[in-house]
Amino acid sequence: MANNPEIMIIGGGAIGICSAYYLAQGGRQVTVIDKGAMGSGASYGNAGFIIPGHLIPLAAPGALAQGLKWMLDAESPFYIKPRLSRDLIRWTWQFRAASNEKTMRAALPLQRQLGFGSADLYHELIARERLDCHYTQAGLLMLYRTEHGFEEAQAEARLLQEFDVPLRLLDGPAAAEMDPAVSPEIAGGIYFSRDAHLDPALFMQALAKRVEEMGVTLRPDTEVLDYEVAGGKVTTVRTTRGDFHPGQIVLAAGAWSPDVARALSLRLPVQPAKGYSITVKQPDGGPRLPMLLGETRVAVTPLGPNLRYAGTLELAGMDFSINQRRVNAILNGARSFLVSPVETDNLVEIWRGQRPCTPNGLPIIGRPASLSNLIVATGHATSGISLAPITGSLVAQIAAGQPTEIDITVLNPDRFR
Ligand SMILES: Cc1cc2nc3c(=O)[nH]c(=O)nc-3n(C[C@H](O)[C@H](O)[C@H](O)COP(=O)(O)OP(=O)(O)OC[C@H]3O[C@@H](n4cnc5c(N)ncnc54)[C@H](O)[C@@H]3O)c2cc1C
Repeated sequence: MANNPEIMIIGGGAIGICSAYYLAQGGRQVTVIDKGAMGSGASYGNAGFIIPGHLIPLAAPGALAQGLKWMLDAESPFYIKPRLSRDLIRWTWQFRAASNEKTMRAALPLQRQLGFGSADLYHELIARERLDCHYTQAGLLMLYRTEHGFEEAQAEARLLQEFDVPLRLLDGPAAAEMDPAVSPEIAGGIYFSRDAHLDPALFMQALAKRVEEMGVTLRPDTEVLDYEVAGGKVTTVRTTRGDFHPGQIVLAAGAWSPDVARALSLRLPVQPAKGYSITVKQPDGGPRLPMLLGETRVAVTPLGPNLRYAGTLELAGMDFSINQRRVNAILNGARSFLVSPVETDNLVEIWRGQRPCTPNGLPIIGRPASLSNLIVATGHATSGISLAPITGSLVAQIAAGQPTEIDITVLNPDRFR
């Protein structure tokens, strides 16, 4: 019954494969299809941070004003390519509407539950399945090189402490002492003790292998083309490798989700947001702790023998070109915080990926009212790796018709109508 799976997952990224894992654990017969290789989308070369305490969404107060300022700078960490797209204009409007203190605060308790719930699941999952992916729970250092940046960060830290996020404020010398690679010029930092990190490509490889052992069928190079719908259900999924007649479908196609959903008359306001990573061999004296560099928004992740710098968020549509100027800006952004060499002599890979971003920063998880056998799981923006296990576990509960362990009513796909 290979083409009649009980549950078919569209998209073999972190969200799709984690969903497959928790569904298979519950004894379901699952097929995952992907238009390319499993784990080849955004889940491949990202920074690999598992950061449950970083609750402030992209749509935070002042985000749009800051974004517009950054747009004038070709090396800034944020860019919107001006274009006449109705979807982008609507998305930007909704983003602006969500960028206020009240909306942000209202979302924080749920974000906290999702983030810490997922971090706990990671801990169990990696240990139970012995996944070899450089998973390390050593915390994360957020650094600021200007007094102004550090002052703003302290205000954010006070807000996070209201929501019981474990963190420690560090003055400049204390921040520099945390890792010998940090420049002594640093103004201050915040240490998030519960954060972890991993090599996302190794995690995806190891988990894909494990789900296959559990009986999940993986079908790479299989692209969704169209559907047949009858009686409020998707009855057929037409793909480049033939028709499938699944009992239930999980739509987890990351930044491609709006395209995959369009033929089902579902409008998902998800914009692709491009980012880059540059992976090099770990230099002598290189960072040992993962770091987020405040003013330049660069992520630095030690990954076993390698070191990754990642950053930028470009709303430029499904454009996968590499802008060398922005790649250089990421490296320069790291140089201004580190004393260790930031060089590409020992380059492993330059990569770009598209984050699936909703206007208010919250993912979309749930069944749309119009299709009773469809579950949407997408829109995780900058947190898809962090939130993959909890999303997979929630998808399995929805598929089983059980009440979900967390109230996720506000994540429903119909909320944007
Ligand atoms: C530079 C950068 C750094 C990041 N750092 C972090 C981080 O440190 N921590 C964190 O939590 N998140 C991070 N993210 C975000 C994270 O990578 C994403 O949120 C996450 O990978 C999304 O997972 P996904 O499974 O939804 O999408 P993807 O991994 O993109 O998977 C979607 C899959 O769907 C497939 N697909 C698309 N269309 C079709 C179709 N028609 N038919 C079949 N298959 C299809 C694609 O081939 C793809 O494999 C980062 C992202 C970037 C770009």
